[in-house]
Amino acid sequence: MNKRVKHIVIVGGGTAGWMTAGLLAARHPDRGENGISITLIESPEVPSVGVGEGTWPTIRKTLSRIGIKEAEFLVQCQASFKQGSQFDRWVTGEDGDTYHHPFELPVSHIPNDLLHAWQTSMPEKTFAQAVCVQSSPSLRGLAPKQTSMPDFVGAINYAYHLDAVKMADLLRLHVVEKLGVTHISDHVTQINGATDAPIESVTTRENSDIKGDLFVDCTGNASIMLGGHYGVEFVDKSHILFNDRAIVTHIPVGESDPIHSETISTAHKAGWIWDIGLQNRRGIGCVYSSKYMKDDEAEQILHDYTGNPELPVRHLKFQSGHRTHFWHENCLAIGLSAGFLEPLEASAIVLVELSAEALAENLPVNAEDMKIEAKKFNHRFSYRWDRIVDFLKLHYVLSQREEDYWRDNRKPASIPERLSDYLEVWKHRPPSQYDFEHASEVFPAASYQFIVYGMGMKPATHPTLKPRITSEIQKHMQSITRKQRAFAAGLPTNRALLAGLKKQATRV
Ligand SMILES: Cc1cc2nc3c(=O)[nH]c(=O)nc-3n(C[C@H](O)[C@H](O)[C@H](O)COP(=O)(O)OP(=O)(O)OC[C@H]3O[C@@H](n4cnc5c(N)ncnc54)[C@H](O)[C@@H]3O)c2cc1C
Repeated sequence: MNKRVKHIVIVGGGTAGWMTAGLLAARHPDRGENGISITLIESPEVPSVGVGEGTWPTIRKTLSRIGIKEAEFLVQCQASFKQGSQFDRWVTGEDGDTYHHPFELPVSHIPNDLLHAWQTSMPEKTFAQAVCVQSSPSLRGLAPKQTSMPDFVGAINYAYHLDAVKMADLLRLHVVEKLGVTHISDHVTQINGATDAPIESVTTRENSDIKGDLFVDCTGNASIMLGGHYGVEFVDKSHILFNDRAIVTHIPVGESDPIHSETISTAHKAGWIWDIGLQNRRGIGCVYSSKYMKDDEAEQILHDYTGNPELPVRHLKFQSGHRTHFWHENCLAIGLSAGFLEPLEASAIVLVELSAEALAENLPVNAEDMKIEAKKFNHRFSYRWDRIVDFLKLHYVLSQREEDYWRDNRKPASIPERLSDYLEVWKHRPPSQYDFEHASEVFPAASYQFIVYGMGMKPATHPTLKPRITSEIQKHMQSITRKQRAFAAGLPTNRALLAGLKKQATRV
């Protein structure tokens, strides 16, 4: 029977569950007879993940679509502005080994010409400094906008650092009160339906069975529907991405302490450390591979970094990989239930946003539609997961560090074939948009350019392709220094802007 999709049940109330509920509810606001109902069931027994997360600029559109005000979000989630990532000690491991991956794109889309212009006119600068306004050291502690600018609009591209647990709390309040989502606080104990047929309902401890036409599995690592009920296989990527542990802590900070506007990622002998500045604390985590490092050594590395062995720590385990597919029968997994690779480059929440947006934009009308939408979704997101694996691995293969972990990371057997092929051709030309299949890549060619040239790959253009320094490129490159000076003079610090917006929010 070609049943209408009217009742959507989301199980799981972490970032993935509430973001999905928010995007769906905002896009499909009719809760009446002709609309859809959205129910979110969240276990009071299973806590959600929250370590102090970095995000991508997509988050601004997501929050705006859901209808959340920027100042309210910043205040409630202890969030701060993020302008990209700084990578320390990834190339040689020495002091002063640092490069940047900013959010702002290079000034021109013709990489051959841009590379040539950089090499001939300012080779003393790093690639990012030469081609991107955001990479000036003078902008690093600054906010990307002024207080007077509208919500989610910046002088420079930006995202946020945030507390994911607080964001789920904010979304819950908004989505239930303003968008008509039904919230059930209960633990799902059973999935009802044959494993080769659509799910009919889920059984909860206190609220009996909840029926639905479409179920969204946002249950985190438990993946109770896609993984548990349907047994959709997990594709292990740990032979490519070695990290499987994180030890996390935080350092409280005062209201006048400066806040970095980049995620600081510092490599160590068997992994790396993230340092994320929120308003009230710095979230710090030591990511490592248990094959190459014991837990107590990783803990010592974290303590050496924070300088305070008394700080309480939390040990987390994860397995790098994802499900073979994400939409099975009438069940779609979004968030950790679909997979997790590792925290590098903050690729998890952006995938939640893209998945939830794809669902909201292409919500199947009936069961027949669902089969087609599921096929499309699985195709698109398999591609996305593979490209993210490539991009994360890129950070490890270009390192010249000599510890076993880093040397093994460079072994050809651990490098995906597509990445390996591209690394070969990028010896002769820059990464270009034609290397990628989608207009909306999570990590476009520019991201690859920032990493490969940041990590010291020798810039080269095709020997017979005559690069041109057009007057347009020249103008763009000259304007970078001018803009950097203007931004440095006109933008407040991350902390000052947050204080200003907080004041504004309390006045409203
Ligand atoms: C070490 C680490 C660092 C990370 N850093 C980043 C980062 O910098 N940037 C980024 O984008 N992402 C990062 N992530 C990932 C990010 O935190 C998650 O992707 C994101 O918070 C989404 O989580 P989730 O909602 O899928 O799962 P969770 O937060 O685990 O939520 C799962 C939900 O399911 C519910 N649930 C579970 N079982 C049941 C049941 N039986 N019945 C009912 N409800 C149930 C739970 O109660 C909970 O509400 C990191 C993750 C880790 C582990």
